[in-house]
Amino acid sequence: MEMLGLYLSVPFCRSKCTYCNFSSGVFPASYHERYISCIESDLRSIGRHAGKWGVQLPQAVDSIYLGGGTPSLLSPALFRRLFTNLRREFAVLPTAEITVECAPGQIEPAVLEALGECGVSRISFGVQSFVDSEAKAIGRLHNRAVALEDIRRVQNAGIVDVSVDLIAGLPGQTLDTWYESLNVLAESGVDHASIYMLEVDDESRLGREMLVNGGRYRAKEVPGDDLIADLYTEAIVFLAGQGLTQYEISNFARPECESRHNLKYWRREPYLGFGLDAHSMVRTHSGAAMRFGTTGDFDAYLENPGWNEPHRLDREEEMEEAWFLGLRLNEGVSLGALRREFSASAVREFLSTITELEEENLVTFVDGDRVALTAKGRLLSNEVFGRFLAEPAVA
Ligand code: SF4
Repeated sequence: MEMLGLYLSVPFCRSKCTYCNFSSGVFPASYHERYISCIESDLRSIGRHAGKWGVQLPQAVDSIYLGGGTPSLLSPALFRRLFTNLRREFAVLPTAEITVECAPGQIEPAVLEALGECGVSRISFGVQSFVDSEAKAIGRLHNRAVALEDIRRVQNAGIVDVSVDLIAGLPGQTLDTWYESLNVLAESGVDHASIYMLEVDDESRLGREMLVNGGRYRAKEVPGDDLIADLYTEAIVFLAGQGLTQYEISNFARPECESRHNLKYWRREPYLGFGLDAHSMVRTHSGAAMRFGTTGDFDAYLENPGWNEPHRLDREEEMEEAWFLGLRLNEGVSLGALRREFSASAVREFLSTITELEEENLVTFVDGDRVALTAKGRLLSNEVFGRFLAEPAVA
């Protein structure tokens, strides 16, 4: 039976990281209640919209993800209210994976207690670096001791599934300091890690500084692309040696500890997104994929919550998504499954592209059926994905 995932965007941060230009910001706590009320109104109205759009929503929810932003900044009372309303509107399975993103040093004891009561089963920590000078350079408010203490706190509170995010390419980072962070991550014993190569948004403070070749935010110390690629590649090997196997371009886990929610994105399983700049992918009664999203403008969302007009994907768009989402996974894309979902002739249209990419050592065949990125392909993934967008229309 197909299950539904729910994503809730909580765009509140205590400070703005220098590289970030997400739809998030530092808002007074007085906004929190109003914002959550908007999400709750969307929770109540989604069934009506789904009916109007001809969408078939799966009955049961097996994953919820509160991302942001820093959801742990919400008050315990708001967490309890939100989860009560989530369970009122959706059949949330008792075994559902429920993840909350947290910033180290920003989980009050009463919030941690509320998270446990609400059934939160997984915490994802935006650590980014266990080297204090690096965390400070990007505007993070924690240090290594605080991050390790918070990992221990949530696990002692019974939330044993913990993920840690690190970023390769922070200002001043070297291979030595990268290994320092990786070693601390390994020693922390977490079962899941996300490793991102730094992407500086041009509109972020760091991005603007880099564009004018300025020195604020240690902009001149951002490593070059080659070093960032090396750091990422080293991490894959190191984490594998620690039992954390790569399963997606940026994600690593011990067996059975992969993020159930995030896998839905790459496997094109249905999910609904609520709140600011949130995206949804569901299927119509006829099985077509439908995507819709919300505004990224905070004031506009508060004024007028709800969704933009949905877009029903045509077969060509669905096939393209099957490629560029599926290829993110180490398991790759099964040609047999694609033939069943689309048609043998539709898959045939892509065979020459696959052969070219194979010759360039960007993709490889696994078990004769699955096409997967190579190590080089993972570093050049956007280029690979782009090659699947220029194919002829699917019959
Ligand atoms: S990176 Fe995350 S915590 Fe930092 S400002 Fe952006 S949304 Fe907030």
